[in-house]
Amino acid sequence: MTSSTPFPTWTRRRFLERLGLIGGSSLVMTAMQSLDLMAGQAGVRPVLTGRPAKSKVLILGAGVSGLVTAYELNKQGYDFRILEARERVGGLAWSVRKGTEHTELNGGDRQICTFDEGHYVNVGPWRIPYSHTGVLNYCRELGVPVQVFLNEAENSYFFYENNAAGVLSNKRIRLREVKADMAGQVNELLLKAVDKNALDLPMTAEDKDRLLRYLVTQGYLDATERTYKAFEMRGHGDPYAMKDLLAGPFTQRLRSVPPVEGTSAAPMFQPVGGMDQFPKGFQRALPPNRLTFNAEVQSVHQDDAGVKVVYLDTKSGKKTEVAADFVVVCMPLSVLSKVDINVSPEMMAAIKATNYSNSAKVGLQMKRRFWEEDDQIFGGHLYSNLPLGEFSYPSYDFFTKKGILLGLYANGPVGDLLDRPVKERIEHVLMHSSKVHPQIRQEFESAYAVWWRKVKYNEGGYAQGAPTSRRQQLSKVDNRIVIGSAATTPHSEPDWQEGAVSAGWQAVASLHERAMRG
Ligand SMILES: Cc1cc2nc3c(=O)[nH]c(=O)nc-3n(C[C@H](O)[C@H](O)[C@H](O)COP(=O)(O)OP(=O)(O)OC[C@H]3O[C@@H](n4cnc5c(N)ncnc54)[C@H](O)[C@@H]3O)c2cc1C
Repeated sequence: MTSSTPFPTWTRRRFLERLGLIGGSSLVMTAMQSLDLMAGQAGVRPVLTGRPAKSKVLILGAGVSGLVTAYELNKQGYDFRILEARERVGGLAWSVRKGTEHTELNGGDRQICTFDEGHYVNVGPWRIPYSHTGVLNYCRELGVPVQVFLNEAENSYFFYENNAAGVLSNKRIRLREVKADMAGQVNELLLKAVDKNALDLPMTAEDKDRLLRYLVTQGYLDATERTYKAFEMRGHGDPYAMKDLLAGPFTQRLRSVPPVEGTSAAPMFQPVGGMDQFPKGFQRALPPNRLTFNAEVQSVHQDDAGVKVVYLDTKSGKKTEVAADFVVVCMPLSVLSKVDINVSPEMMAAIKATNYSNSAKVGLQMKRRFWEEDDQIFGGHLYSNLPLGEFSYPSYDFFTKKGILLGLYANGPVGDLLDRPVKERIEHVLMHSSKVHPQIRQEFESAYAVWWRKVKYNEGGYAQGAPTSRRQQLSKVDNRIVIGSAATTPHSEPDWQEGAVSAGWQAVASLHERAMRG
C-alpha cells in the first residue's frame, strides 16, 4: 500500500469477511456475536457502507421505529432530523406517572395522573421476551438496565364465573393447585399403567423402574402407596378432581416449557423504572438538535428533486416547511392515512388497509400491596373470564408499601366501555376485580385509563398483522419516501417492539440503498 492509496474503510462486514479467510466460520460466529450482528427475531442489523451524495433525511415520528432509524443513520453520518408531534419520545412505549396527562379525542375526557412519585404503569409495551435480541441488545448498548418480568406466579388465581369452569366456577383456584393436582393425578394413572405393563414401552426393567421413580417424585406421589394426595406445598384442601380440572379452561395454562412469547413466556424482561426508559436510551444517544418535539407533520410532498414536509408547531401554532432528500415515515399508518402525502395509489391503499388494535390499559394505584401481603402473589396474572382482559400484578418494587396493578389490558372491545366516561370504565374494573380481590375497593387510591383508539397521534394500538402482499407493498421505496413504522416489519410482529426494530432496520437498509443510487 502506498501513501497515495486511501486506507480501506473497515466496515464490520469487511472485517468479518477477513476473519472468515483467516480463521474459518467459528471465528466469524464469535465475532458476530460480539458485534450483535447475528440474526435474531428482528433479522440482521444492517451494515451500511458508503456515503451517499444526498443524505438529508427527515424521520417522521420518534417511536421505537423512528429512534432505531435515527440511531443507525446517525452512525453512518447522515444529516437527519426527527419531527415528533408529542413532547416526548417513545410513542406507544409510554409509561404513565405522576403529572402525565392526556385528553381523549373528539372532546373526550381529560385525565391527569395522580400516582405517587416513583410509581408508574406501562400503558403500551410492558415486557420483552428473551428472544427479542434486537431490543435487548439495544438496551445493553444504550445502557438501559433491565430486570426480570414475572409472567407467571405460582400463587396466582384462576377465576371463572358464569359456569365457565363447571363445578370449579366462581372460586379462586391457585395455579399451583392446578399444576400439582394435574401432574399428580396424571402421574398416578401413568404409574399404574407402566407398573402393570399395560403400555408397550421399549424399555428395560431398569429403565422402567427409573421411570416409576420419576413419576413418583415429579408428581409428588406418596412413595409407599404410589397414589396422589393433597400435600402442603400445593396448598390446603383436597385435590381438585382431574375430570373437573379437565372440564374447565385450567389446563390450557400447563405447558412442558414456557413458550417464547406471550402471556406465560419466560424469562421476560422490562426496563428498570418503566418501558419509556428504552426510547429515552436512544434519545440520550442522539444529538439533541436532531429531535424536534411538538412538530405535528401535516403534509409530505415529494418530486424528483426532493421532499417537502410541512409541520405545525403545536406550542406556537406556527407552520414550517422543511426540505430533505428523503423521508422515513415512522408514524402509525392510522395517522398517516389522514396526512396530505403524495405516494402511489398502491401505497396509499396499503396504508389505508392497515388496521390497528383496539387496545386499552388501566393502571390502579393501591395503598397497600395486598396481593403480596394477603395472597403471596408476586408478579404474574389473574387467569379469568372477567371482562378485564389481562389483570396483572407488578414485577418490581416487591415488599414496598404501595403498588400499581394493571386492572385491565384488552386488545379488543370490552362491551361498550370505549364509549363510556373514564369514571365508568374505572368503576367497571373495580367492580369485576373485587370478585377476586375484595380488598380492592378499600385499598384503591387512583387510576389512569388509556384507550389507544382515543389517543391523539396513535388512534389505535399496534398494527394488526398485515398479509404478506400488503406488507411487501408497504416495504417498497416510494421514490423518496420509505415507511419505517412497525406495520412494515419483515420479521417478528408489529405487536412487539422487536417488530419496530426490524421495521427500522429494513427502512435504514432500503433508504441507504436508494440514497446511494442518488
Ligand atoms: C397495549 C399495547 C401493548 C404492547 N405490549 C408490548 C409488549 O409487551 N412488548 C413489546 O415489545 N411490544 C408491545 N407492544 C407493541 C409495541 O408497542 C409496538 O410494536 C411499537 O411500540 C411500535 O413502534 P412504532 O415506532 O412503529 O410506533 P409508535 O410507537 O406509535 O410511534 C409513532 C410515533 O409517531 C408520532 N406521530 C404520530 N403522528 C405524528 C405526526 N402527525 N407528526 C409527527 N409525529 C407523529 C407519535 O407521536 C409516535 O411517537 C404493545 C403495543 C400496545 C398498543
